[in-house]
Amino acid sequence: MRIFSRKKRPMHLGKFPLEKIKRVDKPTTLITDDVKQVPKRAGFFFRAFYGDLGDTAKREVKRFITKTPLNAAMGHTHWNEVPLHRGEPAAEKAPLPDDPEEMSKHIKSLCYFLDADMVGICEIPEYAWYSHDDKGEPITTRHKYAIVLVIDQGWETMEGSSGDDWISGAQSYRAYLKGSTNAVITADYIRRLGYEAQAHSNADGDVLQIPLMLLAGLGELSRIGELILNPFIGPRHKPAVITTDLPLAVDKPIDFGLQDFCNKCKKCARECPAQAIPFGDKVLYNGYEIWKPDVEKCTKYRTTNPKGSSCGRCMKMCPFNKEGLMMHRLALWSAIKLPFTRRFLIWLDDALKYGRRNPIKKWWLDLEIVNKRVVVPKNVSERDVHLERPTDLGNSKVATYPWEKLPTADDKETVPVDRKEGLKHTAEAEEMLRKAKEMLRV
Ligand code: SF4
Ligand code: SF4
Repeated sequence: MRIFSRKKRPMHLGKFPLEKIKRVDKPTTLITDDVKQVPKRAGFFFRAFYGDLGDTAKREVKRFITKTPLNAAMGHTHWNEVPLHRGEPAAEKAPLPDDPEEMSKHIKSLCYFLDADMVGICEIPEYAWYSHDDKGEPITTRHKYAIVLVIDQGWETMEGSSGDDWISGAQSYRAYLKGSTNAVITADYIRRLGYEAQAHSNADGDVLQIPLMLLAGLGELSRIGELILNPFIGPRHKPAVITTDLPLAVDKPIDFGLQDFCNKCKKCARECPAQAIPFGDKVLYNGYEIWKPDVEKCTKYRTTNPKGSSCGRCMKMCPFNKEGLMMHRLALWSAIKLPFTRRFLIWLDDALKYGRRNPIKKWWLDLEIVNKRVVVPKNVSERDVHLERPTDLGNSKVATYPWEKLPTADDKETVPVDRKEGLKHTAEAEEMLRKAKEMLRV
């Protein structure tokens, strides 16, 4: 996308004018000093593998990422890159500029050269490292810096899709694969310069990408919950990360008014097929402020969706999922600079029928792999927009599972989710946020 003439634009700034967005000292959502590390075993896709989400999710989670021939083909390359994530640095340090600013510009330029859509850098807080790996072994790596890449999932294909049909998994994998390839090359390059570096992708990573994307100034936390929304491509992306000890200058978080916008807009919650996104307020979860989604419902839907290969419908439906045409840029400018126009813009997004599928953009074949044979699937998700759905349900349907009750690294057996308790916890967590903000007078 060409936003303006790039003739005089230095390479390290990339193609999106991220430098024009307001920078702030702290993220726009509260992060207390009491955020606990979690083991990979506590992640809901891992929980599905262990049977915590029931037998169907346990069976389907092994299949859904290779459920279509295209997904399987992209996944194949993506997983083959895992052995390249780690390596030893060169014995001797290269003669580099000793200015961290210069090195940040250089590394960002490299990531853009390798086709990242946006790049940010931050220091890594302790809680952003997983405590234990997938085998239950402690993760001891502690690099100081994270280079965070944002990769667009692609506007045009998203236009043709319902968000949860037979291309939905491949849309994610397109971004996972591009991010992974970029990250392994960048990490390998830094190691050849004599510094430690490790790539972290969807296939294998030791860090939580969401807080790093937030701290690196690449977006704000959105109502979708465990997703950082970027002002220029919205939620339509996947991150990848390189951690390193190479001295770098860091970026600050950004504020483009998203907390207020998401407070007023509930389109993702209205359109989520699993009803996993809260309509109500944010909560305090494990020490941080978040619109906490019902991860159990979302994971079950993505792994067992009978009418598609996964789901990214919340990304598809968000008013920030735009391409950067002149009218989109004007709407974005208005959403950021003129808060009083936000309700109108949210209404306009529906009125202009954004979110409906554009049949001209449907290029893929609906195919499924069943018992090692490629067949035409029995069903296809053909959703458009559900304007009639209620949006006043608060958080009543959203279960959240408190940090203390998550499986530990040693749990090798099934740890079933307790949905009743999860629903109760959501209400408590809303109150916890109110009290925490009162104490801190935020
Ligand atoms: S990925 Fe699908 S199921 Fe999950 S929150 Fe988004 S729309 Fe809902
Ligand atoms: S759809 Fe609306 S509420 Fe949901 S993330 Fe996008 S802007 Fe926020």
